[in-house]
Order: sequence, then structure tokens, then C-alpha cells
Amino acid sequence: MRDLPVTAPNTYTSEPIPEAAQEAIDAMMRSGDLFRYTAAKDSPVALLEQEFAALLGSKYALAVSSCSAALFLALKALDLPRDAKVLIPAFTFAAVPSAVIHADCLPVLVEVGDNYRVDLDDLERKIASADAVLISHMRGHTSDMDAIIALAEQHGLPLVEDAAHSLGTKWNGQNIGTLGKIGCFSFQSYKMINAGEGGIMITDDAELVARAVIMSGAYEHNWAKHAIVGDEAAKWQNKLPLYNLRMQNLSACVIRPQLPELARRVADGRSNHDYVAERLEGSGYFTVPAPLNAELRAPDSIQFNLKDFTPAQAQAYMDATKALGVSTQVFGLSQDNARAFWNWQFIPGDTPALPKTRAMLAKACDTRLPARLTRDELDYIADALIEAATKVRG
Ligand SMILES: *Cc1c(COP(=O)(O)O)cnc(C)c1O
Repeated sequence: MRDLPVTAPNTYTSEPIPEAAQEAIDAMMRSGDLFRYTAAKDSPVALLEQEFAALLGSKYALAVSSCSAALFLALKALDLPRDAKVLIPAFTFAAVPSAVIHADCLPVLVEVGDNYRVDLDDLERKIASADAVLISHMRGHTSDMDAIIALAEQHGLPLVEDAAHSLGTKWNGQNIGTLGKIGCFSFQSYKMINAGEGGIMITDDAELVARAVIMSGAYEHNWAKHAIVGDEAAKWQNKLPLYNLRMQNLSACVIRPQLPELARRVADGRSNHDYVAERLEGSGYFTVPAPLNAELRAPDSIQFNLKDFTPAQAQAYMDATKALGVSTQVFGLSQDNARAFWNWQFIPGDTPALPKTRAMLAKACDTRLPARLTRDELDYIADALIEAATKVRG
């Protein structure tokens, strides 16, 4: 047997930021030029937008302060009426219904199945009375986007993708985030590219991006520094509120040198995930939902379902993993979990029943698996996850 690491790997620290970022930041600190609109052109934020759009293969990108801000601006840019119904998966992060509320719309939760994907029957039932569809690829799990796109088109509804946790995922070979009208990504530290905070939206729609640019805080004629959206944006000058959700140059300096790292992180993250998934499946205690055929994933965490655990055993399982240093949360059991829909009490009205999602959340476990982990560290994690189950199940 190999010698495994003696202590549990830290799954919360990120990869080091590339050296090039340090140099760019030093230059920026010396010049003091932190605001994206001070330079006449080619500020780090403007360059990031061009590079990100090119990387994803979309026409336009708008960098902002978070993915939540991008989602909010996406809904505002669509010009939905007040109290518009926006369908969202019932399994997502609290920031998503929050962005919908922030945009003066009403989130309508759609059931999510055991495989963490949108339940198409429930979506079909609810879509007839909806005004927009916002699909969160939660933890990088892609729902059946062919079916969802077809349904949205059939009902003439705009589709927004929350791809916060899916940067690098492909669907039928196409980049996630380019399937709907607008795609939104996060640069928060637990995502594939880490700037502490930050977000970006992409779209091929000149009018949508122009509206979003103005509302993100391109006051006066600052829209002109988004060269490719100039003419469209001029139309909206002084017509839309300025929410000031801009990204600052320091963030762009941290993000840009990480873009060339993305392909490697995605490949490593996927092989890490698949390695641990196979070990967990082999133990007999868990099921790990397989990717859909069209999906090529970019995971930096693993989700798996407890098989035949009682609620008390599921609770004990969380404690047992923690004792072994590989803290694992059952989404629906850890207290105040921001991904459990009954904790989103800021949504007007009663909490919906959503029995399928509730059943999934009662058994779905969540463990981080950053791309930088070594094989030995992955074995440590898999061993601990299995050992905790053995202890609990006796
Ligand atoms: C992280 C995350 C968000 C929020 O991103 P922020 O940049 O922190 O606003 C939204 N949706 C999903 C699925 C996420 O994982």
C-alpha cells in the first residue's frame, strides 16, 4: 500500500495565482489606475471582456462585480415586467432566487431530480405561465438543455444560463453559457477562475449587452469604451438606471492570467472527479449520477447520493466525515444550507412542497475536489468518505 498523506488535504485553498498577475498588479498599484473607465481604451477590464468573449466564442462580454450582479443585469436587460415569473431550478444557490427578487421578478421553483437536473415534466407544467427561464447548472450539472431550449422556444421565452459553476463545461461540443440568450459566470474563489469576487455575462445580442453595459454603470459616454457596443448603447444613454456593478481593474489583473490555465484545470478537475466517483460507486454505499450523453463536464467538486441511509445515519455520516477531516454536507441536512430551497424565506408566498427536490436534498452529499489535488490526496478523500459510511452503517 502507498503511504497516503497523514492529514486531510485542504480543499478550500485555491491554486496559486500566476506570477503574471503579480506583475500586472504591481504596475497598476504604481499607476493608481484602478477604475475601468479612466484609460481611454484597453483597460484590463476591457481586455478581459474581449479575451473572455473570444475564449467562449460569443460576441460580447460584460465584466461585473459578481455572477449575482450579472444575473440581475441579465434579467433587467431583458426588460421583463415587474413581478414577471422566472423559472429557476429548486436546487441552486440562494444567490439565484435573490437575483430574481432584486430584478423585481418572482422566482418560480422547478423540481430537480435525483441526478441534480431539472425535472422536465415539472418545467413543462410551469412554463406556460412563466415569463422567462433561468437555468442554473448547479455544481456544474447540466440539465437536458436540448429539451429546455426547445420548450423555451416553443413558449417564446428568453433563456438565461447561470453558468457560475460551469466554466469549461460543454454541451454537444458547445460552451455552456452560450446556449441561451445570456450566460453568466462567477470568479468567486470557489469557482474555476478565482479573483475572490467577480462575474461576467456573455451574449450575442447587441441590444441586450448595450442595455446591460449602461445599467452596470457606464455613465455619461463611458459606453464608448466598450467599442463593439457603441452604437446600440448610445440609444440607451440616460434612459436606464445606473446600478454601478462594475468590475475594477485589479480583479481583471487577477483573472486574465488564469484564462490560459482554464483548459488544464478543467481536464484535471474532470479526471479527479471521475476517479473519486468510481471509488465511491465501487463502495456500494453511494450512487454518483452519471453525466448526460451531450455533457462534457468541468467539475471542481463531487456530489453523490447516500444509498439506503436512514435520516439518522445520514446525519451521523456528516459528522463522521468531519471527524476524518473531509467535511461533507448533505445539502438538506446541514443547518441553514443556502442551497436548500426552504431556507429561501425571502421569496414571497409559502414554501412550495417540491417533494422530488426535497427527497434528493435529503441524501445528496457535497464534497469539494479542486483541480489541484494529487492522486494521493484524492485517495485520502475517497478513503475517508467510504470509511465514514462503514462506521455509520456498521
Ligand atoms: C457561486 C454561484 C453563484 C453566485 O456567484 P457570485 O459570483 O458569488 O455572485 C450563482 N450560482 C451558482 C450555481 C453558483 O455556484
